[in-house]
Amino acid sequence: MSELNEIVRKHVVKNALDYGKANAGAVVGRVIGELPEAKNDMKETMKIISKAVAEVNKLSRVELEGEAANYTYAEKKVEEKKIVLPNAERGKVVTRFPPEPSGYPHIGHAKAALLDYEAAKEYDGKFLIRFDDTNPEKEKAEYVEAILNGLKWLGVKWDGEVEYTSDFMPQIYSYARKLIAKGKAYVCFCAADKVKTNRQEGIGCECRDRSAEENLNEWKKMLAGEFSEGKAIVRYRGDMSAENTVMRDPTMLRIIKAKHYRQGTKYSVWPSYDFSVPIVDSITGITHAMRTKEYELRDYLYYELIRELELRPVIIVEFSRLQLKGFPVSKRLITPLVEKGKVHGWDDPRLPTLMGLKRRGILPEAARKFALSSGIGKSESTAEIEQLLVENKRLVEPTAQRRYFVKNPVKLTIKNKPGRSEVMIRNHPTNKELGERKVKISDVFYISGDDARELERGSEFRLKELYNVKIVDELTPEFFGEYEGEKIVPGKKLHWVSDKGKVKCRVIVPGELFDGDTFREESLKIDSGYCEESCEKLKIGDVIQFERYGFCRFDAKEGDTLVFIYTNP
Ligand code: ATP
Ligand code: MG
Repeated sequence: MSELNEIVRKHVVKNALDYGKANAGAVVGRVIGELPEAKNDMKETMKIISKAVAEVNKLSRVELEGEAANYTYAEKKVEEKKIVLPNAERGKVVTRFPPEPSGYPHIGHAKAALLDYEAAKEYDGKFLIRFDDTNPEKEKAEYVEAILNGLKWLGVKWDGEVEYTSDFMPQIYSYARKLIAKGKAYVCFCAADKVKTNRQEGIGCECRDRSAEENLNEWKKMLAGEFSEGKAIVRYRGDMSAENTVMRDPTMLRIIKAKHYRQGTKYSVWPSYDFSVPIVDSITGITHAMRTKEYELRDYLYYELIRELELRPVIIVEFSRLQLKGFPVSKRLITPLVEKGKVHGWDDPRLPTLMGLKRRGILPEAARKFALSSGIGKSESTAEIEQLLVENKRLVEPTAQRRYFVKNPVKLTIKNKPGRSEVMIRNHPTNKELGERKVKISDVFYISGDDARELERGSEFRLKELYNVKIVDELTPEFFGEYEGEKIVPGKKLHWVSDKGKVKCRVIVPGELFDGDTFREESLKIDSGYCEESCEKLKIGDVIQFERYGFCRFDAKEGDTLVFIYTNP
């Protein structure tokens, strides 16, 4: 084959694999990109492409995959963007993922954790996990567990032991003391409201004027538990008139008396995020601290604390938050939905939590690719769930077994039926390795309500993998048909479930939870009907394709009903 022919063929095959069918227009750019001379005779190039498209579109998926394996695609590498860190030295990079254990991990956390993890890998460095657990009111061991499980599911591996910010409290206290002693922090007794308005208006309060010595004394009392919650806070002495409002004497430590899930009642003074993160990042050896862009204004404070406390410097690297149209990708939004019972738990398939995605039938590899697809860039964009579903389907399609499910079943009785009592049906249209299954039949079937609606006396169609049928009678809601031979003729092919081998089946169809900012009450739809008996043998978690319906994950058996969750078309 000539070079042009081969390059064309290779891109046409890839295009067919990616989109189901190849399209000449979609391929031409790639061909010219790889072989610029192809532009010299566009007419000839287009002719070759069209011919290849026609040939390739006749191939099955398995054939396409077999052929694609012989080619190398330059763009394969580009798909996962390389992560470039500033001032990074091979072998010396240390990154960390610092979740607060205050909820279940979601796809946004996956993006953050994967970027940290991949960046460390890129530079042969280390990747650490540290639970940022300094608010005992919000944190639980259950969430630590869930986050670690989520990371394992994604295939993220961390170096060394899992760390906890709350294990660094002695160091954090000693840095607090240092800051107070230098006059760079003070104990403030003002009411929360006053602190807030003063900060808005850029006014300093009288607590600001106390000497370092007096402040150290108040600090001691604070640690000794002499003040009640909300009575005193430690504030950084920034600049009350700073343009960047973060610098208007931000809170460094506050009193929270609740019992901590890990430290018990050992501490009642807890650092803010702003105070603990630079300290612990620095003392645990982090070189590059990655965080989402919304913290941008806080970067200045981070660097200033590092300087004032004479800590080893850390470089902050920013990336954009992952947003998903119709889904709340934030604990702040997800938690109330779970707590108020608006969704059925953290693993509700409508949620973008990792457990929700898993339950919906999303493979970790698809979640990973999707989360990383926007890379380290700072530009904000809202992704659509379809991007994730398409990626997932690409991974699931080649091996998902096919089954029949009839929604809103309608009875169909066949007269003069051939005397067969079972039929063998292939489990996959092209993947022969998946074998076949035996399905019991008699003269009574169920077809889907949608298909039945289009039938009338005289309608002809084929029962998939069986024989042709002509409708001879309709006694709403039942149909009666006649056996019309087995010769395959063009026309409608309906899937069915036999009366002899039917199981009650329910499919939960998750929809988008939000329309803009409005919660959609009807975001969950249920399809009910019968599926075939062989579905009884599925294991929880198996993903199959219900033919002419969609990919579904087997979720549970409730009484005599099999429950599935709809993944994608
Ligand atoms: P949430 O808004 O969900 O409450 P958070 O920032 O409070 O998120 P943390 O547990 O503190 O949750 O987050 C740990 C890390 O995950 C942080 O670096 C945070 O920036 C990052 N992260 C959280 N949500 C997203 C998102 N949607 N996209 C990318 N990264 C995110
Ligand atoms: Mg947070």
